[in-house]
Amino acid sequence: MIIDTHCHMYNSEYDDAEKIIELCKKNNIYIILNGTDKNSNLEVLELSKKYDNVFAAIGYEYSNAGKITDLDLELLENQIKNNNVVAIGEIGLDYYWTKDNKIQQKDLFNKQLNIAKKYNLPVIVHSRDAVQDVYDILKNKNLTGSIHCYSGSIEMAKEFIKIGYFIGIDGPITFKNNKKQRQLVKEININNILIETDSPYLSPEPKRGEKNTPLNIKYVIKEIASNLDKSEDEITDITTKNALNLFDLSI
Ligand SMILES: [Zn+2]
Repeated sequence: MIIDTHCHMYNSEYDDAEKIIELCKKNNIYIILNGTDKNSNLEVLELSKKYDNVFAAIGYEYSNAGKITDLDLELLENQIKNNNVVAIGEIGLDYYWTKDNKIQQKDLFNKQLNIAKKYNLPVIVHSRDAVQDVYDILKNKNLTGSIHCYSGSIEMAKEFIKIGYFIGIDGPITFKNNKKQRQLVKEININNILIETDSPYLSPEPKRGEKNTPLNIKYVIKEIASNLDKSEDEITDITTKNALNLFDLSI
C-alpha cells in the first residue's frame, strides 16, 4: 500500500480524474485529495465519498485571502465533520505570487488553524517564500501535520519536525539539479517524511513535462530509496505508516 498524501486529482484539473483514481486503486495507491477553494473542496468531498482509496483534505489556500467570509469558515467547519475528512488543507502562506496581502493571508491561515485545533485535525501546509512566517505561526499552535512539498533549508526542516510536523517530499527530488533535496532526506529521519505528488503539478523524472498523477509516486519512492540505501519496499512501508498515523486513516 502506498499513500500519496497530497494531490489535486479531481475533475476540474483532469479530463479523466476518476479513471486515474480507479487505476490507483488497482495499484494499491491511496490518495489524500486536497481542495484549495470552495469548488474544489466540494469535488474532494464527493470523490472521497465515492472511492474508498480517496481521503479528503479541505481548506482555503492563500489565493482566497481577503475573500473568505465568516459564513465560508462556518461552511468549512460543517464540512470537516464528514468522516472522510482527514485534514485541513491545503492552507498556508505564499509570498511568491504576492507579498501585498500578507496580513490577509496570515489571518486566513490562522483562522483555519484554529478550526483544526477545535476539531483535533492535522493540517496540510503550503509554504512558498514564506517559511519563517509559517514557522512562527505554527510554533504557537500546538498542532500536527505536514509541510507539503517542502523546499526550505535542512535546518528549518528540523525545526518543523521538532514542533510536530512531517516533511512532504515530491517529484522535484528526482530532478538532476536538486542536490539540496536529496541531501535533506539523508539528514532528516525517514520517520518524519511523507511522500506526495502534488498532481497535476511537479511531475518527476522521467515524466517531466507531462501532467502528473499519483501513479508517478513510485519515482519519488525510488529516489528516496536510492539515497538512503534502502529498498523501495522499506521506504513504502515506513512512509505509509507515517501517513496512517498522522492522518489516523482507517484502511
Ligand atoms: Zn497542492
